[in-house]
Amino acid sequence: MQTIQTTLPRGIYSGSTCHRVAVLRPLTGRQEVEIGACVPDPRAVSRILADRLIRVGGLEALSARRVLLMSRGDRAHLLLTLRASMLGDVLRLTVACPNPACCAPIPVVLSIQAVCASPPVAAPRQLSVSTPMGEVRIRVPTGEDDAIIAEADADADVDALLWSRLLQQLGERSELSPDEWRRLPASVRVPVALRLARGLRGPMLSGRAQCAACTAWREWRVEPAALLSAELHGGAARIVDEIHALAWHYHWSEESILDLPRQRRWRYLALLSQAMCEEKR
Ligand SMILES: [Zn+2]
Repeated sequence: MQTIQTTLPRGIYSGSTCHRVAVLRPLTGRQEVEIGACVPDPRAVSRILADRLIRVGGLEALSARRVLLMSRGDRAHLLLTLRASMLGDVLRLTVACPNPACCAPIPVVLSIQAVCASPPVAAPRQLSVSTPMGEVRIRVPTGEDDAIIAEADADADVDALLWSRLLQQLGERSELSPDEWRRLPASVRVPVALRLARGLRGPMLSGRAQCAACTAWREWRVEPAALLSAELHGGAARIVDEIHALAWHYHWSEESILDLPRQRRWRYLALLSQAMCEEKR
C-alpha cells in the first residue's frame, strides 16, 4: 500500500506531546470524483482527510471531528501533500496583469515541497501577548472556525466572530462575544492580531508576481481545496473509462475500482495494455 509521510507545520497536541508526523494514503477514485464535482467545504475536507490519515505521530484512527479541530495550516498542508502525491510537486498558476493597458498573463510556478516546508521546532499550544487590559491568550484558527464562518449568516461580522472564537483569555475573562471583541480598543486588538500573524504556521499560500511585459505586480493566492477541485474537475469522464476497462477485464465491481487510488488504477491499466499488446503479437 502506497503511503505518504509528511511533517505538519503545527501538529496535534495530546497532553504535552505535539504529534507532527502524518502518514496518509493517497486519494481514492471516489474522492477524486467527489472533490472534482464541487469544492469540498471544511466539514467535507475533514471527512476526506480523516479517511486518508493513517496516523499523526502516535495518534491513530483520527475522527473527522478531530481533523476538523486541526489547524487551518495543517489542513492546507495535508491537502497540498495529497495533491503533490497525485499530480506532482510543481504547481503552475496564471494570474492576469492588473495593468488595464497590458492584461498579459503572469505565470507563477511553485514547488509544493518548498511551499509546505515545516519548521523543525514544535509550535506553542497557545499564543499569548501582554496588552493594556492584561494578558491575552489566543489559539490558531482551525477547520471548525472555517466551517462556522462558511455557515454564518451573510450579514454576520465574520471577522469579529472568528476573533471571539480564537480568544481564550483576556485578563480574567475566558470568553468574549463578537460584539465585545469589536468594542475592544485598538491598543488590545492590534497586538493580538500581530501575535497571531507571527504565530501562524502553514503553507505559504499567497505572494506577488511581476508582469514580464510591463513590470506591474500582481498578488496571487492558492486556496488548496479550490485548487484541488479545479484540477480534478473534468476527470470524472476519464475515471468512468478506467472503471469500464478494469471492470471489463478483471470483473471487479465499480465500488472496488473507485476504492483504488489513481496510481494503482493506472498501474493495472498499464499492465492490461501491455498484456493486450503481447496478445496481438
Ligand atoms: Zn503587464
